[in-house]
Amino acid sequence: MVHPLEETLIARQIAPTPMRLLVLDVLQRHPAALSLADVELLLEHADRITVHRTLKTFTEKGLVHRIEDGSGAVKFALCEPQCTPEQHHDLHVHFFCTRCRETSCLPTVAVPTIALPAAYQVQETSLVMKGLCAGCAGIPTSIS
Ligand SMILES: [Zn+2]
Ligand SMILES: [Zn+2]
Repeated sequence: MVHPLEETLIARQIAPTPMRLLVLDVLQRHPAALSLADVELLLEHADRITVHRTLKTFTEKGLVHRIEDGSGAVKFALCEPQCTPEQHHDLHVHFFCTRCRETSCLPTVAVPTIALPAAYQVQETSLVMKGLCAGCAGIPTSIS
């Protein structure tokens, strides 16, 4: 039987190398988005270039998406299963907690369509909201 992690990679046409399996495992274990430095630390100082390349491959294949939350470091989060390499800019809101400094995907909260003046051509839209996450605010939430 194929390991579920391997299956996830193969489904995205990513060859399951040991490093890719490790990075995927780390991403799956951490519900919050992770920066390159976070992944590196969690893998006990894996080679930064290899981790960087792995995240780049995952992004290109639609397995993860990049989040710029204003913290200065790009973060990575797993995409929803229906994302494809062609269109995997998950158009959901991201939330940056000013207390624990974690960035979370809010897959149930869609980014609204915003009308721009006619001359502007949008290439990407992202919406990051800031405040206290459910854990820090101490309020139970239905978002898993
Ligand atoms: Zn928090
Ligand atoms: Zn996200």
